[in-house]
Amino acid sequence: MPLDFLKRRNAAETAAPAATQPSVQPRSSHAAITLPEEVVAQEYQLKLYYAGKSSEGVRMTAGPKAIAELPSMLHGLAKSEIEVVDPLPIEFSQATPVMARPSEAMQWLNAHHIHSPVTRHALVVLESIDAIDLAFDTFVCTLLDGEVDTSGYPEYSAIVGGVVSHWDEATGDMIARAVVGWGGKGARGDTDRIAAKLLSGILTNILANQYALGLTPIDRPVPAAGRGGLVCAHCGFASAHERAFYCPKCGMRLLRG
Ligand SMILES: [Zn+2]
Repeated sequence: MPLDFLKRRNAAETAAPAATQPSVQPRSSHAAITLPEEVVAQEYQLKLYYAGKSSEGVRMTAGPKAIAELPSMLHGLAKSEIEVVDPLPIEFSQATPVMARPSEAMQWLNAHHIHSPVTRHALVVLESIDAIDLAFDTFVCTLLDGEVDTSGYPEYSAIVGGVVSHWDEATGDMIARAVVGWGGKGARGDTDRIAAKLLSGILTNILANQYALGLTPIDRPVPAAGRGGLVCAHCGFASAHERAFYCPKCGMRLLRG
């Protein structure tokens, strides 16, 4: 109750006049407080460092069957379970791993809480630096180098990544590329060099696949700005990508109108 609050306050002031008087008195005469020439500030800082690399694309035949080939391209390189992250449907089109934006963060968590700590870390790093876009990319992910902490999350110097694919709008072919990323509260000198080696190892594996046709420049699709595009008649996937000719998930042709 406000009245009680006022009463208590008044009571406190009158009850201890001796204690409050000396500190109140100089404050009323302005000359007693001089502004310090320099403010003594305690500094706080956090430097986050995220980095990554993406290779050229490799054109694949075999249509939707090629998706099943992606995990095998990490054999010999994977240091943890290989996980497949499908493109996100339209209801997750705002998903962003940024805590200060609760609606976007909530979408992101709803979409990705099922994944392993390695994959979630990889998604945070690679989405933050725009190396992947789950509006149309399929991401096949693993730990490639370095350690995880006791909760299973990669250390800042650990390298994560794998194979990323999307469907070429013009031809409908699958385009696969190698992607690696790393980072966090720090950076280490040799990470970039190890990452470059891993990137070429993954690209070699992609090119060695039976369905690979060779290197191709990557013309990445542009996700729709506002409302989403089409619903796949084959798998029911509602794409956030309105110009897509091919379903980001199953690769079948999207029917218009
Ligand atoms: Zn589909």
